[in-house]
Amino acid sequence: MALVVQKFGGTSVADPQKILAAAKKAIARQQTGHQVVVVVSAMGHQTDVLVDLAKQISDRPSAREMDVLLSTGEQVSVALFAMAIQSLGHKAVSLTGAQIGIRTDSTHTKARIKSISTDHVKKLLDDGAIVIAAGFQGIDQNGNIPTLGRGGSDTTAVALAAVLNADLCEIYTDVDGIYTTDPRMLPKARRLASISYDEMLELASLGAGVMHSRSIEFAKKFGVKVLVRSSFKDMPGTVILAAEESTPRPASGVAFAKDEARITLENVPDQPGSSHALFSQLAASGIAVDMIVQNVGQGGQADISFTVPVDDLPQALELSNRVAKQLGATGVSHDAELAKVSVVGVGMATAEGVAGRMFTALSREKINVRMITTSEIKISVLVDRKDGVAAGQAVHHAFGLETEAAASEADLAGSHLVKSSPLDVVRRLDPGVAADVFEEVGRAGLNVDMIVQSHPRNGRAEISFTVPAESRDKAIEVARKIAASRGAHVADVPHVAKLSITGVGIRSHAGVADRLFKPLADEGINIDLVSTSEVRLNVVVAAEHGQKSLMVLRRAFGL
Ligand code: ADP
Ligand code: ASP
Ligand code: MG
Repeated sequence: MALVVQKFGGTSVADPQKILAAAKKAIARQQTGHQVVVVVSAMGHQTDVLVDLAKQISDRPSAREMDVLLSTGEQVSVALFAMAIQSLGHKAVSLTGAQIGIRTDSTHTKARIKSISTDHVKKLLDDGAIVIAAGFQGIDQNGNIPTLGRGGSDTTAVALAAVLNADLCEIYTDVDGIYTTDPRMLPKARRLASISYDEMLELASLGAGVMHSRSIEFAKKFGVKVLVRSSFKDMPGTVILAAEESTPRPASGVAFAKDEARITLENVPDQPGSSHALFSQLAASGIAVDMIVQNVGQGGQADISFTVPVDDLPQALELSNRVAKQLGATGVSHDAELAKVSVVGVGMATAEGVAGRMFTALSREKINVRMITTSEIKISVLVDRKDGVAAGQAVHHAFGLETEAAASEADLAGSHLVKSSPLDVVRRLDPGVAADVFEEVGRAGLNVDMIVQSHPRNGRAEISFTVPAESRDKAIEVARKIAASRGAHVADVPHVAKLSITGVGIRSHAGVADRLFKPLADEGINIDLVSTSEVRLNVVVAAEHGQKSLMVLRRAFGL
Protein backbone atom coordinates (compact mmCIF):
# COMPACT_ATOMS: atom_id res chain seq x y z
CA MET A 1 0.00 0.00 0.00
CA ALA A 2 1.30 3.43 -0.91
CA LEU A 3 2.00 6.07 1.70
CA VAL A 4 1.53 9.82 1.45
CA VAL A 5 2.68 12.50 3.88
CA GLN A 6 0.58 15.68 3.86
CA LYS A 7 1.76 18.83 5.62
CA PHE A 8 -0.54 21.71 6.48
CA GLY A 9 1.07 25.08 7.28
CA GLY A 10 -0.20 27.64 9.77
CA THR A 11 -2.64 29.42 7.45
CA SER A 12 -4.08 26.07 6.36
CA VAL A 13 -5.13 25.26 9.94
CA ALA A 14 -5.81 28.81 11.13
CA ASP A 15 -9.35 28.14 12.44
CA PRO A 16 -11.71 25.21 13.13
CA GLN A 17 -13.30 25.40 9.65
CA LYS A 18 -9.91 25.22 7.97
CA ILE A 19 -8.89 22.30 10.19
CA LEU A 20 -12.06 20.45 9.18
CA ALA A 21 -11.42 21.20 5.50
CA ALA A 22 -7.83 19.92 5.82
CA ALA A 23 -9.05 16.83 7.67
CA LYS A 24 -11.32 16.07 4.70
CA LYS A 25 -8.31 16.18 2.37
CA ALA A 26 -6.52 13.62 4.54
CA ILE A 27 -9.56 11.35 4.61
CA ALA A 28 -10.02 11.64 0.85
CA ARG A 29 -6.40 10.55 0.39
CA GLN A 30 -6.86 7.57 2.64
CA GLN A 31 -9.99 6.57 0.74
CA THR A 32 -8.00 6.32 -2.48
CA GLY A 33 -6.14 3.46 -0.80
CA HIS A 34 -3.19 5.26 0.77
CA GLN A 35 -1.81 5.26 4.25
CA VAL A 36 -1.72 8.88 5.38
CA VAL A 37 0.55 10.75 7.78
CA VAL A 38 -0.39 14.38 8.36
CA VAL A 39 2.13 16.90 9.71
CA VAL A 40 0.66 20.09 11.13
CA SER A 41 2.04 23.52 12.04
CA ALA A 42 0.75 25.74 14.80
CA MET A 43 -2.56 27.46 14.01
CA GLY A 44 -2.27 30.72 12.07
CA HIS A 45 0.32 33.02 13.62
CA GLN A 46 0.34 31.20 16.94
CA THR A 47 4.13 30.78 16.93
CA ASP A 48 4.56 34.55 16.53
CA VAL A 49 2.08 35.10 19.35
CA LEU A 50 4.12 32.82 21.60
CA VAL A 51 7.41 34.51 20.66
CA ASP A 52 5.82 37.83 21.50
CA LEU A 53 4.55 36.57 24.85
CA ALA A 54 8.03 35.42 25.80
CA LYS A 55 9.49 38.80 24.86
CA GLN A 56 7.04 40.48 27.20
CA ILE A 57 8.46 38.43 30.04
CA SER A 58 12.16 38.64 29.19
CA ASP A 59 14.54 40.21 26.65
CA ARG A 60 16.62 37.07 26.52
CA PRO A 61 14.45 34.09 27.38
CA SER A 62 16.42 30.87 27.70
CA ALA A 63 16.41 28.84 24.51
CA ARG A 64 15.26 25.71 26.33
CA GLU A 65 12.17 27.38 27.77
CA MET A 66 11.50 29.09 24.46
CA ASP A 67 11.28 25.66 22.87
CA VAL A 68 8.98 24.31 25.60
CA LEU A 69 6.75 27.26 24.83
CA LEU A 70 6.89 27.16 21.02
CA SER A 71 6.30 23.42 20.81
CA THR A 72 2.87 23.88 22.41
CA GLY A 73 1.54 25.53 19.24
CA GLU A 74 1.84 22.31 17.26
CA GLN A 75 0.50 20.22 20.15
CA VAL A 76 -2.75 22.20 20.04
CA SER A 77 -3.18 21.77 16.31
CA VAL A 78 -2.46 18.02 16.14
CA ALA A 79 -5.05 17.33 18.82
CA LEU A 80 -7.70 19.45 17.06
CA PHE A 81 -6.82 17.87 13.70
CA ALA A 82 -7.22 14.35 15.11
CA MET A 83 -10.56 15.34 16.67
CA ALA A 84 -11.68 16.72 13.31
CA ILE A 85 -10.97 13.41 11.56
CA GLN A 86 -12.67 11.47 14.34
CA SER A 87 -15.71 13.74 14.15
CA LEU A 88 -15.96 12.87 10.46
CA GLY A 89 -16.12 9.19 11.39
CA HIS A 90 -12.54 8.09 10.74
CA LYS A 91 -9.64 6.85 12.83
CA ALA A 92 -6.91 9.29 13.81
CA VAL A 93 -4.18 9.51 16.45
CA SER A 94 -2.16 12.63 17.23
CA LEU A 95 1.49 12.36 18.25
CA THR A 96 4.02 14.91 19.50
CA GLY A 97 7.58 14.83 18.18
CA ALA A 98 8.71 12.94 21.28
CA GLN A 99 5.89 10.39 21.00
CA ILE A 100 6.89 9.61 17.43
CA GLY A 101 10.54 9.35 18.38
CA ILE A 102 11.98 12.25 16.38
CA ARG A 103 15.46 12.49 17.89
CA THR A 104 17.27 15.77 17.49
CA ASP A 105 20.49 17.31 18.71
CA SER A 106 20.31 19.80 21.56
CA THR A 107 20.69 23.06 19.63
CA HIS A 108 17.57 24.73 20.95
CA THR A 109 15.56 26.83 18.46
CA LYS A 110 17.48 25.44 15.48
CA ALA A 111 17.92 21.75 16.17
CA ARG A 112 18.70 19.13 13.56
CA ILE A 113 16.94 15.80 13.26
CA LYS A 114 19.28 12.88 13.98
CA SER A 115 16.95 9.92 13.66
CA ILE A 116 13.29 8.98 13.55
CA SER A 117 11.80 5.74 14.79
CA THR A 118 9.04 4.44 12.59
CA ASP A 119 7.66 1.50 14.59
CA HIS A 120 4.94 3.34 16.44
CA VAL A 121 3.74 5.27 13.39
CA LYS A 122 3.72 2.16 11.19
CA LYS A 123 1.70 0.21 13.71
CA LEU A 124 -0.94 2.94 13.92
CA LEU A 125 -1.09 3.17 10.12
CA ASP A 126 -1.49 -0.59 9.84
CA ASP A 127 -4.39 -0.32 12.30
CA GLY A 128 -6.10 1.98 9.82
CA ALA A 129 -5.50 5.29 11.59
CA ILE A 130 -4.44 8.54 10.01
CA VAL A 131 -1.42 9.64 12.04
CA ILE A 132 -1.29 13.35 12.91
CA ALA A 133 2.29 14.35 13.68
CA ALA A 134 3.32 17.60 15.36
CA GLY A 135 5.71 19.49 13.13
CA PHE A 136 8.76 21.52 14.12
CA GLN A 137 9.74 19.60 17.26
CA GLY A 138 11.72 16.63 18.51
CA ILE A 139 13.30 15.24 21.63
CA ASP A 140 16.98 15.24 22.55
CA GLN A 141 18.97 12.67 24.52
CA ASN A 142 18.17 14.42 27.78
CA GLY A 143 14.43 14.51 27.19
CA ASN A 144 14.33 18.18 26.22
CA ILE A 145 12.08 19.40 23.38
CA PRO A 146 14.22 21.26 20.80
CA THR A 147 12.47 22.95 17.86
CA LEU A 148 13.81 22.91 14.31
CA GLY A 149 13.81 26.66 13.52
CA ARG A 150 11.05 28.79 12.04
CA GLY A 151 9.30 27.02 9.22
CA GLY A 152 10.60 23.68 10.49
CA SER A 153 7.38 21.71 10.02
CA ASP A 154 8.34 21.30 6.36
CA THR A 155 11.42 19.45 7.55
CA THR A 156 9.40 17.21 9.87
CA ALA A 157 7.17 16.33 6.92
CA VAL A 158 9.92 15.54 4.43
CA ALA A 159 11.98 13.67 7.01
CA LEU A 160 8.98 11.51 7.89
CA ALA A 161 8.33 10.94 4.19
CA ALA A 162 11.96 9.84 3.82
CA VAL A 163 12.04 7.33 6.70
CA LEU A 164 8.58 5.96 5.89
CA ASN A 165 9.50 5.63 2.24
CA ALA A 166 6.50 7.70 1.20
CA ASP A 167 5.52 7.97 -2.45
CA LEU A 168 4.79 11.65 -2.11
CA CYS A 169 5.12 14.51 0.36
CA GLU A 170 2.40 17.11 -0.21
CA ILE A 171 3.02 20.57 1.26
CA TYR A 172 -0.28 22.44 1.58
CA THR A 173 0.19 26.17 2.00
CA ASP A 174 -1.28 29.58 1.20
CA VAL A 175 0.30 29.84 -2.27
CA ASP A 176 -0.40 27.46 -5.11
CA GLY A 177 3.23 26.48 -5.64
CA ILE A 178 6.78 27.73 -5.94
CA TYR A 179 7.01 31.04 -7.76
CA THR A 180 9.85 32.72 -9.62
CA THR A 181 10.01 35.01 -6.61
CA ASP A 182 7.89 35.74 -3.54
CA PRO A 183 4.48 36.67 -5.02
CA ARG A 184 3.87 38.92 -2.02
CA MET A 185 6.85 40.99 -3.08
CA LEU A 186 6.22 40.89 -6.80
CA PRO A 187 2.68 40.17 -8.02
CA LYS A 188 4.07 39.48 -11.50
CA ALA A 189 5.90 36.41 -10.25
CA ARG A 190 4.97 33.19 -12.02
CA ARG A 191 4.36 29.72 -10.72
CA LEU A 192 6.86 27.06 -11.77
CA ALA A 193 5.56 23.66 -12.80
CA SER A 194 8.66 22.01 -11.41
CA ILE A 195 11.97 22.91 -9.87
CA SER A 196 15.09 20.92 -9.10
CA TYR A 197 16.24 20.16 -5.55
CA ASP A 198 19.40 22.21 -5.99
CA GLU A 199 17.57 25.28 -7.21
CA MET A 200 14.97 25.01 -4.46
CA LEU A 201 17.68 24.51 -1.87
CA GLU A 202 19.42 27.67 -3.03
CA LEU A 203 16.20 29.67 -3.20
CA ALA A 204 15.03 28.47 0.22
CA SER A 205 18.31 29.17 1.91
CA LEU A 206 18.68 32.52 0.17
CA GLY A 207 15.42 33.72 1.66
CA ALA A 208 12.45 32.19 -0.17
CA GLY A 209 10.47 31.37 2.97
CA VAL A 210 8.07 29.05 1.20
CA MET A 211 10.07 25.93 2.16
CA HIS A 212 12.40 25.33 5.10
CA SER A 213 15.76 24.75 3.45
CA ARG A 214 16.61 21.73 5.61
CA SER A 215 13.53 19.98 4.23
CA ILE A 216 14.95 20.20 0.72
CA GLU A 217 18.22 18.72 1.89
CA PHE A 218 16.31 15.69 3.15
CA ALA A 219 14.26 15.52 -0.01
CA LYS A 220 17.38 15.57 -2.17
CA LYS A 221 19.29 13.09 -0.07
CA PHE A 222 16.49 10.55 0.07
CA GLY A 223 14.86 11.33 -3.28
CA VAL A 224 11.53 12.35 -1.73
CA LYS A 225 9.11 13.71 -4.30
CA VAL A 226 7.68 16.95 -2.90
CA LEU A 227 4.55 18.67 -4.22
CA VAL A 228 3.87 22.22 -3.03
CA ARG A 229 0.24 23.21 -3.52
CA SER A 230 -2.58 25.39 -2.31
CA SER A 231 -4.74 24.42 0.64
CA PHE A 232 -7.56 26.52 -0.67
CA LYS A 233 -7.60 26.14 -4.44
CA ASP A 234 -7.51 22.94 -6.44
CA MET A 235 -4.44 23.73 -8.52
CA PRO A 236 -1.60 21.56 -9.83
CA GLY A 237 1.16 23.08 -7.65
CA THR A 238 4.92 22.70 -8.11
CA VAL A 239 6.87 19.46 -8.02
CA ILE A 240 10.34 19.52 -6.48
CA LEU A 241 12.50 16.73 -7.81
CA ALA A 242 15.77 15.69 -9.35
CA ALA A 243 14.83 16.10 -12.98
CA GLU A 244 17.27 14.36 -15.29
CA GLU A 245 16.36 15.24 -18.85
CA SER A 246 15.55 18.85 -19.51
CA THR A 247 16.77 22.16 -20.80
CA PRO A 248 18.31 23.96 -17.87
CA ARG A 249 17.57 27.69 -17.80
CA PRO A 250 19.97 30.40 -16.75
CA ALA A 251 17.46 31.70 -14.21
CA SER A 252 14.60 29.95 -12.48
CA GLY A 253 13.94 32.20 -9.52
CA VAL A 254 14.94 35.21 -7.48
CA ALA A 255 15.23 35.09 -3.71
CA PHE A 256 15.26 37.94 -1.28
CA ALA A 257 16.60 38.09 2.28
CA LYS A 258 15.97 41.41 3.92
CA ASP A 259 17.67 41.13 7.29
CA GLU A 260 21.33 40.78 6.51
CA ALA A 261 24.36 42.23 8.24
CA ARG A 262 27.96 42.37 7.06
CA ILE A 263 31.16 42.21 9.08
CA THR A 264 34.59 42.91 7.58
CA LEU A 265 37.95 42.21 9.16
CA GLU A 266 40.33 44.67 7.55
CA ASN A 267 43.95 44.02 6.62
CA VAL A 268 44.19 40.51 7.96
CA PRO A 269 47.68 39.06 7.41
CA ASP A 270 47.19 36.96 4.26
CA GLN A 271 48.50 33.68 5.48
CA PRO A 272 47.17 30.16 5.85
CA GLY A 273 44.96 29.82 8.89
CA SER A 274 43.45 33.30 9.12
CA SER A 275 40.05 32.20 7.86
CA HIS A 276 40.18 29.16 10.03
CA ALA A 277 40.83 31.22 13.15
CA LEU A 278 37.75 33.30 12.43
CA PHE A 279 35.28 30.74 11.20
CA SER A 280 36.11 28.08 13.76
CA GLN A 281 35.16 30.47 16.54
CA LEU A 282 31.97 31.53 14.80
CA ALA A 283 31.08 27.89 14.30
CA ALA A 284 31.76 27.07 17.94
CA SER A 285 29.19 29.73 18.88
CA GLY A 286 26.61 28.19 16.57
CA ILE A 287 26.57 31.17 14.18
CA ALA A 288 25.95 30.12 10.59
CA VAL A 289 27.70 32.55 8.27
CA ASP A 290 26.34 33.17 4.81
CA MET A 291 28.26 35.03 2.11
CA ILE A 292 31.99 34.79 2.67
CA VAL A 293 34.28 36.96 0.61
CA GLN A 294 37.98 36.82 1.00
CA ASN A 295 39.71 38.71 -1.72
CA VAL A 296 43.23 38.20 -2.95
CA GLY A 297 45.71 39.85 -0.68
CA GLN A 298 47.37 43.15 -1.51
CA GLY A 299 50.76 43.67 0.04
CA GLY A 300 50.39 40.55 2.14
CA GLN A 301 47.04 41.53 3.58
CA ALA A 302 43.47 40.59 2.84
CA ASP A 303 40.02 41.70 3.89
CA ILE A 304 37.65 38.99 5.01
CA SER A 305 33.96 39.86 4.82
CA PHE A 306 31.01 37.72 5.70
CA THR A 307 27.32 38.13 6.34
CA VAL A 308 25.13 36.87 9.15
CA PRO A 309 21.44 37.34 9.94
CA VAL A 310 20.93 40.66 11.75
CA ASP A 311 19.84 38.78 14.88
CA ASP A 312 23.28 37.18 15.16
CA LEU A 313 25.18 40.43 14.57
CA PRO A 314 25.94 41.44 18.20
CA GLN A 315 27.45 38.05 19.02
CA ALA A 316 29.29 37.76 15.71
CA LEU A 317 30.73 41.23 16.11
CA GLU A 318 31.99 40.59 19.60
CA LEU A 319 33.74 37.46 18.36
CA SER A 320 35.15 39.17 15.27
CA ASN A 321 36.70 41.93 17.35
CA ARG A 322 38.40 39.37 19.50
CA VAL A 323 39.72 37.35 16.54
CA ALA A 324 40.82 40.51 14.71
CA LYS A 325 43.07 41.39 17.64
CA GLN A 326 44.54 37.89 17.76
CA LEU A 327 45.31 37.99 14.04
CA GLY A 328 46.67 41.51 13.97
CA ALA A 329 43.96 42.84 11.63
CA THR A 330 43.75 46.63 11.59
CA GLY A 331 40.04 46.95 12.15
CA VAL A 332 36.52 45.54 12.04
CA SER A 333 33.67 47.29 10.26
CA HIS A 334 30.05 46.32 9.97
CA ASP A 335 26.75 47.29 8.38
CA ALA A 336 23.39 46.13 9.72
CA GLU A 337 21.18 47.71 7.05
CA LEU A 338 21.55 45.27 4.18
CA ALA A 339 19.47 42.94 2.08
CA LYS A 340 20.52 40.18 -0.24
CA VAL A 341 19.08 39.44 -3.64
CA SER A 342 19.99 36.25 -5.45
CA VAL A 343 19.20 34.77 -8.81
CA VAL A 344 19.26 30.98 -9.12
CA GLY A 345 19.32 28.74 -12.17
CA VAL A 346 21.05 25.48 -13.03
CA GLY A 347 21.62 26.61 -16.60
CA MET A 348 23.73 29.53 -15.44
CA ALA A 349 26.91 27.50 -15.42
CA THR A 350 26.95 27.20 -19.19
CA ALA A 351 25.32 30.48 -20.19
CA GLU A 352 27.32 33.53 -21.13
CA GLY A 353 26.51 37.02 -20.00
CA VAL A 354 24.31 36.06 -17.05
CA ALA A 355 26.28 38.20 -14.62
CA GLY A 356 26.27 41.13 -17.04
CA ARG A 357 22.52 40.98 -17.37
CA MET A 358 22.07 41.08 -13.63
CA PHE A 359 24.49 43.91 -12.91
CA THR A 360 23.23 46.02 -15.80
CA ALA A 361 19.68 45.74 -14.46
CA LEU A 362 20.84 46.86 -11.04
CA SER A 363 22.92 49.76 -12.28
CA ARG A 364 20.04 50.98 -14.43
CA GLU A 365 18.04 51.33 -11.23
CA LYS A 366 21.03 53.08 -9.64
CA ILE A 367 21.35 50.39 -7.03
CA ASN A 368 24.74 50.10 -5.43
CA VAL A 369 26.09 46.60 -5.13
CA ARG A 370 27.94 46.12 -1.84
CA MET A 371 29.25 42.59 -2.22
CA ILE A 372 28.94 39.78 -4.75
CA THR A 373 29.38 36.06 -4.54
CA THR A 374 28.57 33.42 -7.09
CA SER A 375 28.36 29.70 -7.40
CA GLU A 376 27.69 27.63 -10.49
CA ILE A 377 23.97 28.06 -10.07
CA LYS A 378 23.49 31.41 -8.36
CA ILE A 379 24.63 34.99 -8.10
CA SER A 380 24.04 36.85 -4.84
CA VAL A 381 24.41 40.57 -4.33
CA LEU A 382 24.31 42.50 -1.12
CA VAL A 383 22.52 45.85 -1.38
CA ASP A 384 21.27 48.52 1.03
CA ARG A 385 18.07 47.34 2.67
CA LYS A 386 16.11 50.30 1.28
CA ASP A 387 17.01 49.11 -2.25
CA GLY A 388 16.17 45.46 -1.62
CA VAL A 389 12.71 45.22 -3.15
CA ALA A 390 13.64 47.35 -6.17
CA ALA A 391 16.71 45.17 -6.70
CA GLY A 392 14.63 42.00 -6.55
CA GLN A 393 12.17 43.38 -9.08
CA ALA A 394 14.90 44.60 -11.43
CA VAL A 395 16.60 41.22 -11.46
CA HIS A 396 13.34 39.31 -11.88
CA HIS A 397 12.51 41.50 -14.85
CA ALA A 398 15.99 41.30 -16.37
CA PHE A 399 15.68 37.52 -16.69
CA GLY A 400 12.19 37.71 -18.17
CA LEU A 401 10.84 35.62 -15.32
CA GLU A 402 7.38 37.13 -15.50
CA THR A 403 6.93 36.14 -19.11
CA GLU A 404 8.94 33.05 -19.95
CA ALA A 405 7.97 29.58 -18.95
CA ALA A 406 10.65 29.48 -16.34
CA ALA A 407 10.46 25.93 -15.13
CA SER A 408 13.91 24.54 -14.89
CA GLU A 409 15.15 21.05 -14.49
CA ALA A 410 18.61 19.65 -14.57
CA ASP A 411 20.86 16.74 -14.14
CA LEU A 412 21.81 16.82 -10.53
CA ALA A 413 23.97 13.74 -10.46
CA GLY A 414 27.42 13.83 -9.00
CA SER A 415 26.97 15.62 -5.74
CA HIS A 416 29.53 15.25 -2.97
CA LEU A 417 32.43 15.50 -5.31
CA VAL A 418 35.54 17.52 -5.00
CA LYS A 419 37.04 18.64 -8.24
CA SER A 420 39.92 20.69 -9.35
CA SER A 421 40.08 22.62 -12.56
CA PRO A 422 42.73 24.82 -14.09
CA LEU A 423 41.60 28.41 -14.07
CA ASP A 424 42.99 31.87 -14.17
CA VAL A 425 41.93 34.56 -11.83
CA VAL A 426 41.77 38.08 -13.14
CA ARG A 427 41.85 40.39 -10.24
CA ARG A 428 41.72 43.87 -8.89
CA LEU A 429 39.60 45.87 -11.19
CA ASP A 430 38.88 48.75 -8.91
CA PRO A 431 36.65 50.68 -8.55
CA GLY A 432 33.96 48.01 -8.50
CA VAL A 433 31.54 48.86 -11.18
CA ALA A 434 30.29 45.40 -11.75
CA ALA A 435 27.75 46.22 -14.43
CA ASP A 436 30.23 47.66 -16.91
CA VAL A 437 32.75 45.00 -16.21
CA PHE A 438 30.49 42.06 -16.77
CA GLU A 439 28.66 43.52 -19.70
CA GLU A 440 32.02 43.91 -21.40
CA VAL A 441 33.09 40.45 -20.32
CA GLY A 442 29.85 38.97 -21.64
CA ARG A 443 30.23 40.79 -24.96
CA ALA A 444 33.69 39.31 -25.36
CA GLY A 445 32.09 35.87 -25.08
CA LEU A 446 34.02 34.96 -21.97
CA ASN A 447 32.53 32.27 -19.79
CA VAL A 448 33.15 33.61 -16.31
CA ASP A 449 33.15 31.13 -13.49
CA MET A 450 33.49 32.58 -9.99
CA ILE A 451 32.92 36.26 -9.29
CA VAL A 452 33.80 37.91 -6.02
CA GLN A 453 33.42 41.58 -5.30
CA SER A 454 34.87 42.62 -1.99
CA HIS A 455 33.25 45.08 0.33
CA PRO A 456 34.43 48.51 -0.92
CA ARG A 457 36.78 50.56 1.20
CA ASN A 458 37.53 54.23 0.52
CA GLY A 459 35.14 54.01 -2.40
CA ARG A 460 37.13 51.31 -4.14
CA ALA A 461 36.38 47.63 -4.35
CA GLU A 462 38.18 44.73 -5.90
CA ILE A 463 36.44 42.55 -8.40
CA SER A 464 37.92 39.17 -9.07
CA PHE A 465 36.68 36.61 -11.49
CA THR A 466 37.91 33.32 -12.78
CA VAL A 467 37.92 32.02 -16.34
CA PRO A 468 39.00 28.72 -17.84
CA ALA A 469 42.74 28.71 -18.44
CA GLU A 470 42.31 28.72 -22.23
CA SER A 471 40.54 32.11 -22.07
CA ARG A 472 43.34 33.66 -20.08
CA ASP A 473 44.75 35.99 -22.74
CA LYS A 474 41.37 37.17 -23.85
CA ALA A 475 40.28 37.81 -20.27
CA ILE A 476 43.39 39.81 -19.47
CA GLU A 477 42.89 41.89 -22.58
CA VAL A 478 39.29 42.66 -21.69
CA ALA A 479 40.16 43.36 -18.05
CA ARG A 480 42.96 45.74 -19.04
CA LYS A 481 40.66 47.60 -21.38
CA ILE A 482 38.01 48.07 -18.69
CA ALA A 483 40.57 49.00 -16.07
CA ALA A 484 42.27 51.58 -18.29
CA SER A 485 39.01 53.40 -18.89
CA ARG A 486 38.43 53.74 -15.16
CA GLY A 487 41.85 54.51 -13.84
CA ALA A 488 42.03 51.08 -12.27
CA HIS A 489 44.51 48.34 -12.82
CA VAL A 490 44.63 44.62 -13.33
CA ALA A 491 46.81 42.75 -10.92
CA ASP A 492 49.05 39.89 -11.88
CA VAL A 493 46.96 37.00 -13.09
CA PRO A 494 47.93 33.77 -11.39
CA HIS A 495 47.14 30.24 -12.51
CA VAL A 496 44.83 28.83 -9.95
CA ALA A 497 42.87 25.72 -9.21
CA LYS A 498 39.32 25.80 -7.99
CA LEU A 499 38.05 23.22 -5.57
CA SER A 500 34.36 22.75 -5.00
CA ILE A 501 32.58 20.74 -2.41
CA THR A 502 28.94 20.20 -3.16
CA GLY A 503 26.01 19.18 -1.05
CA VAL A 504 27.15 20.74 2.19
CA GLY A 505 24.55 23.28 3.29
CA ILE A 506 26.71 26.08 4.53
CA ARG A 507 23.98 28.43 5.64
CA SER A 508 21.99 25.99 7.64
CA HIS A 509 24.98 24.29 9.26
CA ALA A 510 27.31 26.26 11.45
CA GLY A 511 30.84 24.97 11.03
CA VAL A 512 30.79 23.74 7.45
CA ALA A 513 33.01 26.55 6.24
CA ASP A 514 35.52 25.72 8.87
CA ARG A 515 35.71 22.09 7.86
CA LEU A 516 37.15 23.46 4.64
CA PHE A 517 39.46 26.11 6.05
CA LYS A 518 41.07 24.10 8.81
CA PRO A 519 42.62 21.25 6.82
CA LEU A 520 43.99 23.68 4.23
CA ALA A 521 45.46 25.85 6.96
CA ASP A 522 47.01 22.79 8.61
CA GLU A 523 48.82 22.05 5.35
CA GLY A 524 49.97 25.64 4.99
CA ILE A 525 47.91 26.19 1.84
CA ASN A 526 46.79 29.78 1.33
CA ILE A 527 43.31 30.51 -0.02
CA ASP A 528 43.07 33.12 -2.77
CA LEU A 529 39.32 33.44 -3.19
CA VAL A 530 36.30 31.97 -1.52
CA SER A 531 32.70 31.89 -2.59
CA THR A 532 29.90 30.06 -0.94
CA SER A 533 26.39 28.94 -1.63
CA GLU A 534 23.95 26.60 0.03
CA VAL A 535 24.86 23.70 -2.19
CA ARG A 536 28.50 24.43 -2.85
CA LEU A 537 31.67 25.80 -1.32
CA ASN A 538 34.32 27.02 -3.75
CA VAL A 539 37.89 27.85 -2.89
CA VAL A 540 40.60 28.99 -5.20
CA VAL A 541 44.23 28.17 -4.43
CA ALA A 542 47.44 28.57 -6.37
CA ALA A 543 47.54 26.02 -9.19
CA GLU A 544 50.58 24.26 -7.74
CA HIS A 545 48.59 23.48 -4.60
CA GLY A 546 45.63 22.09 -6.55
CA GLN A 547 46.38 18.40 -6.26
CA LYS A 548 47.44 18.60 -2.66
CA SER A 549 44.34 20.60 -1.75
CA LEU A 550 42.17 18.06 -3.47
CA MET A 551 43.65 15.26 -1.39
CA VAL A 552 43.39 17.24 1.81
CA LEU A 553 39.74 18.10 1.25
CA ARG A 554 38.80 14.60 0.19
CA ARG A 555 40.15 13.40 3.47
CA ALA A 556 38.49 16.18 5.48
CA PHE A 557 35.05 15.49 4.02
CA GLY A 558 35.45 11.72 3.86
CA LEU A 559 35.03 11.60 0.08
P1 ADP B 1 3.12 27.87 5.70
O1 ADP B 1 2.57 28.51 6.92
O2 ADP B 1 2.10 27.12 4.91
O3 ADP B 1 4.35 27.04 5.98
P2 ADP B 1 4.79 30.01 4.72
O4 ADP B 1 4.31 31.37 5.10
O5 ADP B 1 5.88 29.42 5.53
O6 ADP B 1 3.52 29.05 4.71
O7 ADP B 1 5.21 29.97 3.19
C1 ADP B 1 4.35 30.46 2.18
C2 ADP B 1 4.75 31.87 1.80
O8 ADP B 1 6.07 31.89 1.26
C3 ADP B 1 3.92 32.47 0.71
O9 ADP B 1 2.74 33.08 1.19
C4 ADP B 1 4.86 33.47 0.03
O10 ADP B 1 4.59 34.79 0.39
C5 ADP B 1 6.24 33.09 0.54
N1 ADP B 1 7.22 32.89 -0.54
C6 ADP B 1 8.50 33.38 -0.54
N2 ADP B 1 9.14 33.06 -1.67
C7 ADP B 1 8.27 32.33 -2.42
C8 ADP B 1 8.36 31.70 -3.68
N3 ADP B 1 9.48 31.75 -4.44
N4 ADP B 1 7.28 31.02 -4.14
C9 ADP B 1 6.14 30.95 -3.40
N5 ADP B 1 6.00 31.54 -2.20
C10 ADP B 1 7.04 32.22 -1.69
N1 ASP C 1 5.03 26.85 13.71
C1 ASP C 1 6.41 26.99 13.32
C2 ASP C 1 6.66 28.37 12.73
O1 ASP C 1 5.73 29.17 12.62
C3 ASP C 1 6.86 25.92 12.37
C4 ASP C 1 6.19 25.93 11.02
O2 ASP C 1 5.12 26.49 10.86
O3 ASP C 1 6.73 25.33 10.11
O4 ASP C 1 7.77 28.68 12.39
MG1 MG D 1 6.37 27.52 6.27
